[in-house]
Amino acid sequence: MKGKLITGMSKNREVRIYIAQTTEMVESARKIHDLSPISTSALGRTITAAAMMGMMSKIDKEKLTLQLKGERAIRQIVAVADTHGNVKAYISEPQAENVFNALGKLDVGAAIGQEGQIVVIRDYGMKEPFVGQSSLVSGEIAEDIASYFAVSEQQPSAVSLGVSLSKDAKVNFAGGFIVQILPETSEETLAQLESNLTGLPSLTQFFEEGLDMIQVANQVFAGLGLDELEEYELNYRCDCSRDKMETALMSLGMKELMDIVNEDGQAELVCHFCNTSYHFDKSELMVLIQDLARPLS
Ligand SMILES: [Zn+2]
Repeated sequence: MKGKLITGMSKNREVRIYIAQTTEMVESARKIHDLSPISTSALGRTITAAAMMGMMSKIDKEKLTLQLKGERAIRQIVAVADTHGNVKAYISEPQAENVFNALGKLDVGAAIGQEGQIVVIRDYGMKEPFVGQSSLVSGEIAEDIASYFAVSEQQPSAVSLGVSLSKDAKVNFAGGFIVQILPETSEETLAQLESNLTGLPSLTQFFEEGLDMIQVANQVFAGLGLDELEEYELNYRCDCSRDKMETALMSLGMKELMDIVNEDGQAELVCHFCNTSYHFDKSELMVLIQDLARPLS
């Protein structure tokens, strides 16, 4: 379930790259959510982007939520990432019907749609979270995220995301990169970067040719040099727990909990992100109700 993130800077310190390999993480999401190929592609791209965006923050307790709301078959995708490389994700249509483009490739843009929103929530665990949003531009996810960075965070970026599947629909490769243009980047650097990106094969093509992440990063930064490399571990990992489910049940309030006890005599809570189910029988629910009834000391 592990993945890898490499970060680096150009030698002149004018552009930064985040490059991630998330193959096992996306394969694990595919199994957990029983995803169709197009849902695997869409969720895989989102997981990869969220993993990189989560690691951009220097604030230790921040949680980043990346949400895509489309109007076509895939209505919603949510990925939550922290600053330690842990990502969990959810898709409203795990079995979305496959759509193909003219080249016979899975058409994620058509499954998400061009109308909709991308929402990014940065929660620092205190006061109000930061919420940024922008409109979807293509539903292809990478372009939508690049547009989000430009519109909502005034951060010019190039984003590339790729998921390739084997014949039996397992994840062969998943990964992506985000290049950030830092303030006061020179025209020469921009021109070089643009020419590198224009001639760049897709990430899935790189994978098929057997290139590793550093080699890809070197191609993206050709003529600029790659410096200050750092490597981090990524994981597809859910942080749900019985304690959190108890808190969720208690937040329903005494009356609602009594109704559950009287009507169903039990409660079954399923985590959207990892499909773990938590069962509470009548006596366990009664304990929660007693806790609620206890006056605060
Ligand atoms: Zn969970």
